Amino acid sequence: SNASLVIANWKMNGNRALTRNMSEVLRDNQADFKGVNVVICPPYTLLSEMAGHIYYDDVALGAQNVSEYESGAHTGEVSVAMLQELGVEYVLLGHSERRAEQHESDQLVAAKAATVTQAGLTAVICVGEDKAQREADNTWSVIQAQLEKSLAGLSAKQMARVVVAYEPIWAIGTGETASPAQAQEVHAKIRGWLVENYQQVGAKTPLLYGGSVKANNAESLFSEADINGGLIGGASLNGEDFCAICRAA
Ligand code: 13P
Repeated sequence: SNASLVIANWKMNGNRALTRNMSEVLRDNQADFKGVNVVICPPYTLLSEMAGHIYYDDVALGAQNVSEYESGAHTGEVSVAMLQELGVEYVLLGHSERRAEQHESDQLVAAKAATVTQAGLTAVICVGEDKAQREADNTWSVIQAQLEKSLAGLSAKQMARVVVAYEPIWAIGTGETASPAQAQEVHAKIRGWLVENYQQVGAKTPLLYGGSVKANNAESLFSEADINGGLIGGASLNGEDFCAICRAA
């Protein structure tokens, strides 16, 4: 398979017990997925706890969001430097839930991507169409516009620290996964766009699929040419399920 990056997005789930359990299960199973980069993105409040458990594991830490500002009077926000101090290496940006619930625009995602990549962390930029957009045959125009605006202004050096996650909104948390062919069709277009705009750097950008990835469908998705891994929601809350997905990569 072409997959080598599997990211757990716990969303607003989990607790201290899960950080402990997950790190133990990953430690006990990691020999089965050597060479696969595994990233856990718990809520902010569990990052420190998680960091304390995973020092013995070949697992990286990620955050689900970050401020576009470096510091200062931004009540309730968390900076890149704060994340870095905890050993966070990846930051999810522009998840469809944040675009919908927190009204995050492509412009805001681009500002955050600039801050994250400038600091040397990896930005995981999420894009995806909703059901109506797919049914109206607008999938690619929606994705292309999101890519253009959410990556606007990044240098080639910064682009080398970007991962793109394709998450069709209709497949998130619904149990209705995109078929491997449906996902591959979009991924191939994303790859083409990245190569056209960022040449060799774009040829290497990891492309993740997300949306109802489970232990029983991960292998077929990960066998597609342009699917380089997965962004996992619900199935990342159970250690055994998540390890099964890592094994499929
Ligand atoms: P599910 O795996 O629960 O569908 O969530 C996907 C997702 O949104 C990951 O960011």
